[in-house]
Amino acid sequence: MSFRTIIRFLSLGFFIFLLWMTTFPLKGWFPVDFFLRLDPLIFLGTVISSRQLITALIPGLLILLLTLVLGRFFCGYICPMGITLDVTDKVFGPGKNNNTKLSAQKHAVMRNIKYLVLLFILGTCLLGISSVFLASPLSLVTRFYGLVLYPGLVFMGEGFLTLVMPLSSALGVSFLTYAELEPYRFATQWFILLFFAAVFALAYYSPRFWCRYLCPSGALMALFSRNPVVGRKVSEACTDCSICQKKCPMDAIDSDPTRTSHHECIACETCVRVCPEQAVNFGIGEKKSGRVTGYLPARRQVLASLAAGAGSALLIQTGISSVKSEFIPGNILPSSLIRPPGALPEESFLGRCIRCGQCMKVCPTNTLQPVWLDGGLGGIFSPKVLPRRGPCDPLCNACGMVCPSGALRSLPLAEKMWAKIGTSYIIPFKCLAWEWKRECLVCYEVCPYAALELKRVDGNPVPVPYVIHHKCSGCGACEYHCPVQAGSAIVVEPMESLRMSKGSYIDKGRAIGLDLEADPDRQRRPPGHLFDGDDPGDLPPGFSS
Ligand code: SF4
Ligand code: SF4
Repeated sequence: MSFRTIIRFLSLGFFIFLLWMTTFPLKGWFPVDFFLRLDPLIFLGTVISSRQLITALIPGLLILLLTLVLGRFFCGYICPMGITLDVTDKVFGPGKNNNTKLSAQKHAVMRNIKYLVLLFILGTCLLGISSVFLASPLSLVTRFYGLVLYPGLVFMGEGFLTLVMPLSSALGVSFLTYAELEPYRFATQWFILLFFAAVFALAYYSPRFWCRYLCPSGALMALFSRNPVVGRKVSEACTDCSICQKKCPMDAIDSDPTRTSHHECIACETCVRVCPEQAVNFGIGEKKSGRVTGYLPARRQVLASLAAGAGSALLIQTGISSVKSEFIPGNILPSSLIRPPGALPEESFLGRCIRCGQCMKVCPTNTLQPVWLDGGLGGIFSPKVLPRRGPCDPLCNACGMVCPSGALRSLPLAEKMWAKIGTSYIIPFKCLAWEWKRECLVCYEVCPYAALELKRVDGNPVPVPYVIHHKCSGCGACEYHCPVQAGSAIVVEPMESLRMSKGSYIDKGRAIGLDLEADPDRQRRPPGHLFDGDDPGDLPPGFSS
């Protein structure tokens, strides 16, 4: 096994291990978003769109600077997307004797696309809309592994446990008999799967099609690796057999095999291995004579791509569901768009969120789901709370801890409990107590914030629930547990949510009259006590007795 194979094996293994560790409760011994922090495009795009230096993402800058010395080593050795493609290329690739099915002319044109994708993304970032998530390899591959492969594996594991249960029960293997796996489900996974199926299938035309032609992070690193300190060198022993040129998975070797497109080379050393004369090596030294000048987009291509990106961002910002500011009248934000606790104000949030899915993967109740088009094009794949799927656990602050870009603030548990994400309200015509006059205490019983009270109202033989809005955090326990089928009779909307870039949620919450003391284990008062002294005529706005 070659050194490179070992490094790649370890890199992919570590990536999968960290993703597996992105599970509640977090161990906290290592940043589970380590790989996301290494992507130079995530660094550059997020810094531009948020107009802030995000220190957690500085490793991406270091990778970019290292590229000056080592060339595109990140693509060849570390990037989990590239390693995944190396594996799937074996299935879909053009075959051993063919490094591409594209003509030299098509290849020359197509390899410029990645620069245009890069410029498009930077164009959107200039206007404060982060579209890094569209093509950043680390964002894409984390989403794929976390939101598609992981739930698929859990689902299969669950099926396996059900299958072996009769056997394990008969054999008395109790740990297998009673083992359970929590099934996770995510929205948009079909889109993510189809996208990756297409990327894998493109290998039919050439290996690492994505890296060669489309990857904007690769393009960014290519701009820094036009003449790396360590690079491919060819000695006098070369006989011009061109085997290396035919086998290079990135088509980085010129028809004169002594000449190298260093900006395309990912230092995979295939050329070293296949050269029958052992004329190729990687090292420091004079190789300028063998260098092929790297592609640089023409000025009008740069301008057109940047303008296309900025124009798209402008269209998003002038769309009907764009965010102008948080609380001004006329903002049309979907009532279902409940952001996780600690989410920055919406504009900053969209500028920072790289849609990696880490927060959704770690969420123990599976309430965090990727948004499809309901948040407009600018919000696609960003996380939202879906209370009917699961409540936001007051004792969990994991989403903010794993967010690499700071789109969700990392909050201590006490602060997180005050990070109000919405307020629930009752739909009386669906409520068992209000409409059907049947005794139901479910929302009252499950609310960890004691934000529901039961009262008697005229003409109703059973007590009915009320929401005490300043005690409601929007956690959604009530919506999740409401026994009414299909849509719940109590729903959370993002009204009164606290979205702050800095400062204490506790201080702010107290200042505006909130009272968010969660006690998930508190003992409920006996219902009889609740009706003492309540004014039966005291109905909330919109209710009639
Ligand atoms: S909010 Fe979630 S999806 Fe967005 S960057 Fe943070 S962890 Fe990733
Ligand atoms: S009423 Fe209680 S359970 Fe429902 S969202 Fe508000 S705090 Fe959560």
